[in-house]
Amino acid sequence: MDLSYNAEDEQFRSELRGWLEANIPREWSRPGFWSSLDREEAFALRRDWEARKAEAGWAGISWPTEYGGRGGTPAQKAIYDEETVRASVPYTVNPLGLTFLAPSVMVFGTEEQKKTIIPDLLFNRVIWCQGFSEPGAGSDLAALSTRAEDQGDHWLVNGQKVWTTNAMHGDWIFTLVRTNPDAPRHAGISMLLIDMHAEGVEARPLKQMSGESEFGEVFFTDVRVPKSSILGPVDKGWEVAMVLLSFERGSSAMGQYTGFRRELDQVAALAKGRERFGKPAAEDPQLRQKLGASLVELELLKLHSLHILTAVEQGRELGFEASMTKLQWSEAHQDLGELFLDVAELSGQETTGEDFAGLDPLQHSALWSRSETIWGGSSQVQRNVVAERVLGLPR
Ligand SMILES: Cc1cc2nc3c(=O)[nH]c(=O)nc-3n(C[C@H](O)[C@H](O)[C@H](O)COP(=O)(O)OP(=O)(O)OC[C@H]3O[C@@H](n4cnc5c(N)ncnc54)[C@H](O)[C@@H]3O)c2cc1C
Repeated sequence: MDLSYNAEDEQFRSELRGWLEANIPREWSRPGFWSSLDREEAFALRRDWEARKAEAGWAGISWPTEYGGRGGTPAQKAIYDEETVRASVPYTVNPLGLTFLAPSVMVFGTEEQKKTIIPDLLFNRVIWCQGFSEPGAGSDLAALSTRAEDQGDHWLVNGQKVWTTNAMHGDWIFTLVRTNPDAPRHAGISMLLIDMHAEGVEARPLKQMSGESEFGEVFFTDVRVPKSSILGPVDKGWEVAMVLLSFERGSSAMGQYTGFRRELDQVAALAKGRERFGKPAAEDPQLRQKLGASLVELELLKLHSLHILTAVEQGRELGFEASMTKLQWSEAHQDLGELFLDVAELSGQETTGEDFAGLDPLQHSALWSRSETIWGGSSQVQRNVVAERVLGLPR
């Protein structure tokens, strides 16, 4: 494992750091700034700023330059993830498109798809959603029943998706549909790219425990989709989805590590300021052990990320090993959320603003972490994948 970055990578880091320092508005780091904004206003601000960052060349870091990327290395992408979290850059408004769709388009897309989808994504001209889960198909994704009938010059799509992130902001959705109902379960599925503004597509919000509705349901009623709007071959959508999910589950978690490590420092500071049994909570031996355990968990996450990064830099395909990264970062963060609630006690459950609008960032993060062991495949499913596909254990 390589624990260091080379001189070129460090030069990249210092340029990026300089650009971020000069271009992130100071007020963004003022406590309470983001929670003081209306949610739509905050989304628009993030969308616009991210597009300006792309114009300055700080997007698509490791993607080919011919599609608008920067042509950098996996190590530079990991540095980018670290530095953007360190500088408190708001999380991307286009995560499904950037992290999952774009690399899949690079593998399976036609030249035309690469040249249109990728630049539109980088500049946030199109917000993408992921239409995989359905009311009857989550972990068992191959049970999906949304169907697309071949009508000669177009597909006719009917069905429903659920838990669709960004459903209310989405412009397009990459969607798994059944194109051959007579084929075995995993065959006969295709990945269609569907315009969410087309007639017959309806998105409805679902409310989350943080008060937000950043996901929702998407209904398709007799939606006409052009034949060319497909990623990969007809009936081979399962293969496309498996590659896409390996991107979703992640290669390196340096960005997550950087953010979680900062949260741990904030939780430790909170423990110093709160009282427990007549002393600062940070002197409580049990709590100290938990803080120590969280630190160890996060440092192991960092080492695992560097290990993965070294493998990727050496040209190794990760495939199902991506499930190990997903398991490690999501569970480490959930443990950290529980630690925060332990330190904050009842105050961790108090909210001020109406409809949870005034959540403290640590509260928000602790609530959000509950979902991290579900989306992208639950922890139980990841363990099955690691057992069967990485370790080769019997089913
Ligand atoms: C915040 C959030 C955002 C999401 N965004 C999207 C999105 O944008 N697009 C999208 O398509 N989906 C999205 N999802 C859905 C997500 O992918 C599914 O929730 C997930 O795959 C689990 O499916 P399910 O909810 O149907 O649970 P189920 O599959 O019904 O699972 C219920 C429980 O059974 C366990 N279980 C199931 N099968 C097995 C097994 N074989 N072995 C052991 N245990 C098992 C699971 O671990 C879980 O604990 C999102 C989910 C969340 C929470």
